[in-house]
Amino acid sequence: MHKKISSALISVYSKEGLEPLVRLLHKNDVKLYSTGGTQTYLEELGLPVTAVESLTGYPSIFGGRVKTLHPVVFGGILYRRDDESDQAQAAEYDIPALDMVVVDLYPFEETVASGAKPAEIIEKIDIGGIALIRAAAKNFKDTLIVSSREQYADTLNLLTQKEGRTDLADRRRYAAAAFGVSSHYDTAINRWFLEGESAVLDSVRDFEKLPSQTLRYGENPHQNATFYGDLDAMFVKLHGKELSYNNLVDVDACVGLIDEFQDAGPTFAIIKHTNACGIATADTAREAYVNALACDPVSAFGGVIITNTNVDAETAEELNKLFMEILIAPAYSEDALQILQSKKNRILLKRKPLTLPGEMFKTILNGVLQQDKDNVTETADDMTTVTEKEPTEAELTALEFALKVCKHTKSNTIVLAKENQLLASGTGQTSRVDALRQAIDKAAAFGFDLQGAVMASDAFFPFPDCVEIAKEAGITAVVQPGGSIRDKDSIAYCDANGVAMVTTGVRHFKH
Ligand code: 5GP
Repeated sequence: MHKKISSALISVYSKEGLEPLVRLLHKNDVKLYSTGGTQTYLEELGLPVTAVESLTGYPSIFGGRVKTLHPVVFGGILYRRDDESDQAQAAEYDIPALDMVVVDLYPFEETVASGAKPAEIIEKIDIGGIALIRAAAKNFKDTLIVSSREQYADTLNLLTQKEGRTDLADRRRYAAAAFGVSSHYDTAINRWFLEGESAVLDSVRDFEKLPSQTLRYGENPHQNATFYGDLDAMFVKLHGKELSYNNLVDVDACVGLIDEFQDAGPTFAIIKHTNACGIATADTAREAYVNALACDPVSAFGGVIITNTNVDAETAEELNKLFMEILIAPAYSEDALQILQSKKNRILLKRKPLTLPGEMFKTILNGVLQQDKDNVTETADDMTTVTEKEPTEAELTALEFALKVCKHTKSNTIVLAKENQLLASGTGQTSRVDALRQAIDKAAAFGFDLQGAVMASDAFFPFPDCVEIAKEAGITAVVQPGGSIRDKDSIAYCDANGVAMVTTGVRHFKH
């Protein structure tokens, strides 16, 4: 049955592309009803329009939450035109027939994707619009439902071809599309409630009150990211581009590591992907940097560098030879700055004294993990010799140094050091033996003789294999937490082979 459209309710979020369709409706003498924003739009086009308020007798209330939800509107859509009793009731309650409904829903998914806050997202759950869509689709025998902006053009074509009329098959097709729209919409809402924002996360989102800085992207370019906090309180940026997400993560790792060396002599550390690929303490800043770089000049390329001392011109000359992302120092001499500012993209930060938070947070599963930072730093006094052989003074110094680095390296880790220089480390391995082998291979690759070097392990040795391999490589002293039921196997091997071992009783996992 070809049915002429005489009246239409138009309530749309996106008005883009709507104009030709509403002009056609007007040309076809269709009476137009509409809600606030849409009404204004139609009036601006110079089209006659009746406010839906004049049907309902209510204005749009509760900030737009209730606009069209009223028996006159829904009656006009739902009453069966071929049913005598429905007709009588429509006449009795003065309910006009609505032959066509055009809706474009609030953009819920786009709002979620924009990173909007929960309260804003909730307001983008369309209630009246979805009800209009479902009502009109249910009564497709009498009503044509246009259920999204994507159908404006199709509808224009249809009504142009059929001279303002539709047949039952058309209306059924539009009804099917409408239930597709409504189910997609509610599925998106359902998913957001289940996955997106659990109550737990809502309650910890207080950090959003902090000053924030939108980052170019997250760990990867397809991830949005924001830093919440005040970087200006922490650093003065002297040169270079914006810090990226990964830069910030590395800068954090740098700061944690260098703070272990606050009371040490001039120290330089080079960080890649949060692990130190070079660190050394020496008599001068230049020497410390040169020794740090020697550890692994390959990894140092593109690294983030930090020092606990003033950067002078002669150190800057050395630093300038390396492609680095960031340099952080408490101070720079004028000459040093001039030298270092010669490279455009390098970021130079001057660190201000600031006490940092003592806790850390991480979202996991459907909640948040909180823990204290690992604030334990062992000195030689915290080390108990468990072997016949005592470590020498030089070995003790190296053990202290190695353990500080170990604490700031991803587990499982083994750190090899001599005096105040990192020789090599094994980082983030799935076994401690792999970590040790990686460290030994790297030390060899960069020309270090491990004879007389020391080894630090983030956790105990469950088997004597690590001390066996270390001894073969030339290691003469070892520090580890201890506490394995098989400690005695490792200790017995050390005793039989003239290796000194000390334990601390403190594990330093870092994941
Ligand atoms: P307008 O810009 O015309 O004021 O509002 C159009 C939007 O309101 C459309 O996206 C439509 O889906 C939505 N809408 C229509 N009626 C209601 C209602 O009663 N409650 C809510 N929350 N949204 C409605």
